[in-house]
Amino acid sequence: MAIAQNINHFQDKLKNSGCRLIAVSKTQPYEAIMDAYNAGQRVFGENKVQEMVAKQETLPKDIEWHLIGHLQRNKVKYIAPFVHTIQSVDSLKLLQEIEKQAIRYDRPINCLLQIYIAEEETKFGLSAAEAKEILASPEFKAMERVQITGVMGIATNTTSTTQLRKEFRFLKNLFEELKKDFFQQEATFKEISMGMSSDYELALAEGSTMIRVGSSIFGARNYQV
Ligand SMILES: *Cc1c(COP(=O)(O)O)cnc(C)c1O
Repeated sequence: MAIAQNINHFQDKLKNSGCRLIAVSKTQPYEAIMDAYNAGQRVFGENKVQEMVAKQETLPKDIEWHLIGHLQRNKVKYIAPFVHTIQSVDSLKLLQEIEKQAIRYDRPINCLLQIYIAEEETKFGLSAAEAKEILASPEFKAMERVQITGVMGIATNTTSTTQLRKEFRFLKNLFEELKKDFFQQEATFKEISMGMSSDYELALAEGSTMIRVGSSIFGARNYQV
């Protein structure tokens, strides 16, 4: 079965690399996700709240769900009971809402700061300065349940390895800087989520700890509008 083979391929590739595979299952049917699950994959990424909630209700409960798409504050409450990591935190206000819901459900929620690294103008994310501003704020320092475990970035959709390498290095350097300035004593700040189907090899070489791979596992997506 193709999906299982693809999962095995990534498992081999990532063995002893310190990098984990996030299987991006957006738009994929339950059967496809179960094929990956039965091949041993437990970490899945979705970009829409509603779709993730529906899948979480139906699929095995030991799946670790990562939200990788833009999140509106009023939707945090729907995923707060189960989400493992929100990779797309791009404002202090969103972080405050996640904190509120994490307290309400009495569980930790891991968060990655989504950093703007691409040349394209459409991508969400924080600048390096905005990320530092959040981490230095009294509002953030007062938070108890939210755990910032690292950074996430979406590189430019380009075949230029020079450009991609530059963007991945920028994210890795920012991670190191934030680690030094804000999380020196905290082993939980350790994730650099970068790399997708088209550029994960390069991201891996540049120090990614989480690659987010969809189409190279499941095949091309069928968007229904
Ligand atoms: C869809 C998506 C991916 C996976 O993309 P592929 O090219 O299918 O591997 C990774 N990250 C984010 C944020 C996405 O939305």
